[in-house]
Amino acid sequence: MLETLKRLVQEVNQARNLEQALTIIVSQVKSVMGVDVCSVYLKNANDQYVLMATDGLQDKAVGKVVLKTGQGLVSLVASRAEPINLKQAPAHPNYKYFKITGEEHYNAFLGVPIIHHRNVVGVLIIQASKAQRFDEEAETFLITVAAQLAGAIAHAEVSGEVDELNTPTKKRVIDSRPIIGLPGASGVAMGKARVVYPLADLDAVPERKIENIPEELEKFEKALSAVKQELRIMSKRLEDKLPVQDHALFDAYLLMLESDSLSGSIRKRIEAGSWAAGALSETIQEHEKVFNEMEDSYLRERVDDIRDLGRRILMHLQQDAPTETDFPPNTILVSEEVTPSMLADIPVDKITGVISVRGSRTSHVAILARALGLPTVMGASDLPVRRIDGREVIVDGYSGRVYVSPAETIRKEYKQLLTQEIELSEELQGMNELPSVTLDGEKIHLYVNTGLLADMSPTQTSGAEGIGLYRTEFPFMIRQRFPGEDEQRLIYRQVLEAFATKPVVLRTLDVGGDKALPYFPIEEENPFLGWRGIRITLDHPEIFLVQIRAMLRASIGLNNLNILLPMISEVSELTDSLALIHQAYEELLEEGEELLMPKVGVMIEVPAAVYQAGSLARRVDFLSIGTNDLTQYLLAVDRNNARVADLYDSLHPSVIRAMLQVVESARVHNTPVSVCGEMAGDPVAAIALVAMGIDSLSMSVASLPKVKWVIRNLTRERANEILSEVLIMEDAHSIRAHLSEQLEQAGMGGLIRAGK
Ligand code: PEP
Ligand code: MG
Repeated sequence: MLETLKRLVQEVNQARNLEQALTIIVSQVKSVMGVDVCSVYLKNANDQYVLMATDGLQDKAVGKVVLKTGQGLVSLVASRAEPINLKQAPAHPNYKYFKITGEEHYNAFLGVPIIHHRNVVGVLIIQASKAQRFDEEAETFLITVAAQLAGAIAHAEVSGEVDELNTPTKKRVIDSRPIIGLPGASGVAMGKARVVYPLADLDAVPERKIENIPEELEKFEKALSAVKQELRIMSKRLEDKLPVQDHALFDAYLLMLESDSLSGSIRKRIEAGSWAAGALSETIQEHEKVFNEMEDSYLRERVDDIRDLGRRILMHLQQDAPTETDFPPNTILVSEEVTPSMLADIPVDKITGVISVRGSRTSHVAILARALGLPTVMGASDLPVRRIDGREVIVDGYSGRVYVSPAETIRKEYKQLLTQEIELSEELQGMNELPSVTLDGEKIHLYVNTGLLADMSPTQTSGAEGIGLYRTEFPFMIRQRFPGEDEQRLIYRQVLEAFATKPVVLRTLDVGGDKALPYFPIEEENPFLGWRGIRITLDHPEIFLVQIRAMLRASIGLNNLNILLPMISEVSELTDSLALIHQAYEELLEEGEELLMPKVGVMIEVPAAVYQAGSLARRVDFLSIGTNDLTQYLLAVDRNNARVADLYDSLHPSVIRAMLQVVESARVHNTPVSVCGEMAGDPVAAIALVAMGIDSLSMSVASLPKVKWVIRNLTRERANEILSEVLIMEDAHSIRAHLSEQLEQAGMGGLIRAGK
């Protein structure tokens, strides 16, 4: 059963559109379960259930049978959101007979809901003529099928829509809807999707049309002969080492590569206008399907050889580095999982937005996109990535919506919003020179988060009072090895110099979790609970000391260095780190450097540190609350997991109370507290942060004028009142709604949604 299920899910995932996906489902389920009928009903925009596919009922009923809420067994299954298993369906009071279906022959009925992201999107039904309840095994199998297929159906639905946009004469079955993801970086972007996919991943190759067919054929021939050449070399090398019959395998591979069914099909697809990588991927998938269906297990296993050959050709096709022309102006970068290096590969003046199927707001790639001011949607799990290359897309980074090939009305609306956005951002530019004080004179220091040298100049003109968080891991991530002391010193010097008279907070290396160094791989079951941040650098004092020495030497003569320690969960980690910092300081003094001891701070980002904030505060010069991790650890919600992203909100009452406790503990020791997680740059949260008594906020450069606008339009007194209103609320949703309402009322709604 498991194998059948796997194969079914795979086939549905590969379906070109909804219609094909549903046809596969009904025919396969009917045959595997040995029943008389299998049908699927899907919910339309009017909350009615429409018969979308059937194997067993009359074909002509498809699209004609429509059940309103409360009508028939189908809507009963949907409203109860649980299976209904009946021996004699016609005897049930909710049974509704449609002549067109010809279902009068069937008695037994089992319907299970198809649920995607908590919403019932349809109902899957089996029927049989024999009046007998389906057994428990049938019921659990159908539930498993429906649960597995919900995502694939939603996916195929969107793919189908995307296809239908190409065939405007065809009647559209389902209304055009946006794909709902998660807000990654605020702003609105319109442009052309460019799908980027990982190396040698045949299943991730997007569809792409090309104009220059001879050029594409040439690319393919080049890759093909390179692979043939590789095989010949391998064959030669193993000539005397393998028995003759095994060695013959290489000849078989070469024949396979030259065969009409493989390279011939690929060439045909290219001649029909597909790019080589797409033609290759489709052909391999087609072969895979044929082989998978073979009875002979030896032949079935040959599928691995075909995939291997396919991957080899793909690698050669991918070797040609992307050229400037691969990225037209207003490129929207799209990928299953956008990585920092994918972002870095596209010229900054060409990219205008980002969409990632995986990840969420606090994934590091979203943080980078924010630093670059790129509207971003994360966790767009229903996006048919492989089908949207080259299409026009709209990215709404406020609501997390993506529109693929948008209708004219939507496009017009967003064009207007975009104009308003530009006006708003020009108005906000005017904030740069103004102080960050509330209407009743309370000063809140605003700093910038960074980790990229490229974004230094907008940072310098942003009116920021310094750098509140420089993530040193970013320069470590784009190298092939650990950077040396001098190399690091030069990087840090540029940052410290750029803000010469203002404080700069350099955080020590915080790798692990979702930040991997290519040259220092860490394989762990639970990386966010594992070897991360200070835990790694204390275990490797040689890495830590080099970094501290580089920071100290970079600060000579500038004296604006502050060192911040990430992931502290034990007082001993702090005392050990302080000892190493003193050691580096003493060494440098002995070496004759003229140094001042920098200020040192601790990140409060682990619940344990909240409860020991006092013990930490009395040993350091400042505390900085890392709300990204603090929220993840307090709420037990992975910050990168789009599936649970609804549960992730730094405005959760527990996070607010934890932060209040930190402020209170720090105050006893006169230790200032800043916030450097993404919450600091959220205009909605700003009101609460001011009232909590946070001394400074550090955020992306794009958020700074927005947060300043909120601060300048608020009295501390009113903020305090709002915080007390919020403190009696019991969930993040109500708190966010209440705070957003305050912004709307004060005429600042443009900060949290598209438009002004
Ligand atoms: C945080 O956790 O809030 C933080 C600022 O650090 P990072 O996002 O780099 O983990
Ligand atoms: Mg953190």
